[in-house]
Amino acid sequence: MSLSGNLLIGQRAIAGTQAPVFAINPATNAQLEPAYPGGSREHVELACSLAWEAFDRYRDTSLEARAAFLERIAQNIEALGDTLVQRAVAESGLPQARIQGEIGRTCFQLRTFARTVRAGEWLDVRVDEALPERQPLPRPDLRQRHVALGPVAVFGASNFPLAFSVAGGDTASAFAAGCPVIVKAHSAHPGTSELVGRAIQQAVQDCELPEGVFSLLYGSGTEIGIGLVNDPHIKAVGFTGSRSGGVALTQAAQARREPIPVYAEMSSINPVFLFESALANRGAALAEGFVASLNQGAGQFCTNPGLVIAVKSPALDDFIATASTAIAKSPTQTMLTPGIYKAYSTGVQALAANANARLQAKGAESEGHNQCQSHLFVTTAHDFMRDHTLQAEVFGSSSLIVECDDLAQARQVAEQLEGQLTATVHMDDADTDAVAKLLPTLERKAGRILINGWPTGVEVCDAMVHGGPFPATSDARSTSVGTAAILRFLRPVCYQNFPDSLLPTAIKQGNPLNLSRLVNGQRVS
Ligand code: NAP
Repeated sequence: MSLSGNLLIGQRAIAGTQAPVFAINPATNAQLEPAYPGGSREHVELACSLAWEAFDRYRDTSLEARAAFLERIAQNIEALGDTLVQRAVAESGLPQARIQGEIGRTCFQLRTFARTVRAGEWLDVRVDEALPERQPLPRPDLRQRHVALGPVAVFGASNFPLAFSVAGGDTASAFAAGCPVIVKAHSAHPGTSELVGRAIQQAVQDCELPEGVFSLLYGSGTEIGIGLVNDPHIKAVGFTGSRSGGVALTQAAQARREPIPVYAEMSSINPVFLFESALANRGAALAEGFVASLNQGAGQFCTNPGLVIAVKSPALDDFIATASTAIAKSPTQTMLTPGIYKAYSTGVQALAANANARLQAKGAESEGHNQCQSHLFVTTAHDFMRDHTLQAEVFGSSSLIVECDDLAQARQVAEQLEGQLTATVHMDDADTDAVAKLLPTLERKAGRILINGWPTGVEVCDAMVHGGPFPATSDARSTSVGTAAILRFLRPVCYQNFPDSLLPTAIKQGNPLNLSRLVNGQRVS
C-alpha cells in the first residue's frame, strides 16, 4: 500500500494546504517521503462538523454494532501486515519486535473495548421505580444511564506510535463510549498514522457508519491542535506528551466559552522505594532489575523509573555499585525523534552540572544519530528536597537515587513529590511496618502502587489505573489505559417519569438488553 500524504476527513482523502510535515528516520536522520502538508482552519472545521453530524447516529448504534466496528478496525490493522511494521520501524527507530508487539497490543485493546461495549456495564444503569403512594410526596420513576460526551480530539503520542496513537487507547475508549474521533497525528510518525487511519476509515465504511465518525489531520500542534480544542463541536480531548503541551491544551480548553475536559497524560518520574530488608537480601538482583526497567525502550516510557529512594546503608552502597556496573555496560539506543534526543541530552547535562546531584555512572557512547546514553545520578534527601528542579522528568534512560538518613526522611521525600503515574515499593516481610507507614502518602501521590515489581509494562485490563495527580495527568480521576478509560468520555443522564415507549433501550422496563442494574438500591444482574 503506497502512502498518499493526504488528510483523511470522513471518507475523503484531501491534500493539505499548509507547511508539510516529513517523517525523519531517527536512526539515520534521513527525511522520509511522502510530504504531509498540514491541514488548514477549514479542514479542522470540516472534520469537526462531519463529526458533529455523525454523533447522534453513532452514539445510538447498538452495543453489538459498536463492538463489531472496534473489531473491524483491529482486523483491518492486522491486514496491513509488514507494510505497517516497516514504516513504523523507519519512523520511530524502535526495533521490529517492539513494533510487532505494539500492533498486537493495539488490536488487543480494540477487542477488549469491544468486549466492554457488549457487556454494557459502562452504561451504569440505575432504576428507582415510582412510589405513587409515598408520603408526604410520591416518587416519580427515575432511570439513569451514561451517554457519550460528543466528538473527541485525540493527540497521538510519540512514544507509542501504535498503542497510543491513531487507533490507540484514547481513540478506542472514545469510540467505545459512542464518540466520533478526530486525531491530530503526531508529526514524528505521519506514515504510520496514515496507514492506521486508512484502516479505521475503511472500517467506518465496512460497518456502514456515518463518515464523520473518524478523521485524521496533520499539522502543527499550535495550529491544528489548538484549532481542534477550540472548535465548539469538540467536547473532550485525549493527549499523551509533554507537560508544556498538555498544560497548553488544558488551558485552551478551559478558556473556551464552553470549557471541556482534557485528559492529558504528561510527566511522571515514578519513584521506587527500596526497603532495608529487601535491599539486604537481594540488592544485586534489584539493581539488575532496576537497570533493565530503566533501559527498556531507551527509557522512553511514561512509567520509566526515574527516581529511587532508600535509606543509606552498606546494602544501598552495593545496590548503587551493581547498578553502576550495569549502566556502564548498557549500549546506546536510538531515541524516537531528534527533538526527544535533544531534550534528553539537555536534561542529563543539566543534572551533571547541578551541584545538588553527582553523576554516578553513564552507559557506553556511540557515534550514531540520536543515541540515548544511559545515566545514573545520586543525591541526598536534603538536597533533593531543597532543589525542585531534581524532580523534572528527563525523558529517556536517566534516573536519580536519593539517599535518606532514615525512614522518616524517606517519608518526607515522598511527601514532597509531585503527582505520579506509579509508585513502587521493594520490600520483604520484615519491612511491612515501615511500608505501611508510607502507603497513605503513596496513595495520595500515585495512580498505581506496585509491590516488588517494576513500573514499566502497563497491563491492559479492567483494574488498571494509568493516571495520577498533576503533573502525571491533568485529571487524577481517570485512567488512560484499561477498560475504565471509557468513563472519561461519558456523562450520566437521568430520565424522569418517561413512558416506556420513549425510554432508551438500555433502561426500558423489562431490561431487554439484560444489563446488570441497580434497582431500588439493590444490584440485580
Ligand atoms: P509533545 O511535544 O508534547 O507533542 C505531543 C503532541 O502535542 C504533538 O502532536 C504536538 O504537536 C502537540 N503539542 C505540543 N505542544 C503543544 C501546544 N503548546 N499546543 C498544541 N499542541 C501541542 O510531546 P512529544 O513530541 O511526544 O515529546 C516531547 C517530550 O514530551 C519528551 O521529551 C518528553 O519529555 C515528553 N513525553 C512524555 C511522555 C509521557 O508519557 N510522560 C510521553 C511522550 C513524551 P506538534 O506536531 O506541533 O509537535
